[in-house]
Amino acid sequence: MLKFIVIGVALFFLFKLFKGDTRKKDKFSDKDRDRLIASGEMVKDPICGTYVDKSADIRVKDETGVHCFCSFECRDKYLKRLAPGTEE
Ligand SMILES: [Zn+2]
Repeated sequence: MLKFIVIGVALFFLFKLFKGDTRKKDKFSDKDRDRLIASGEMVKDPICGTYVDKSADIRVKDETGVHCFCSFECRDKYLKRLAPGTEE
């Protein structure tokens, strides 16, 4: 009988662990995201509107400030917008 209890408890912890894992894999919850945006930890990608970490590697500095991008694609689009003459 004790065996079944032990197995049950083990399964319960495995389930909790699994649930915790899937939650971690999720992107920020709306509440977390709002908090990070409010505290300035996340900034909006001006091209696609995605919120990216302030410390993101992909960034451009211009006269209006530093802009962070979710991808090099967005950065390139932004740069092309800054210098429309260079677009092919
Ligand atoms: Zn983007």
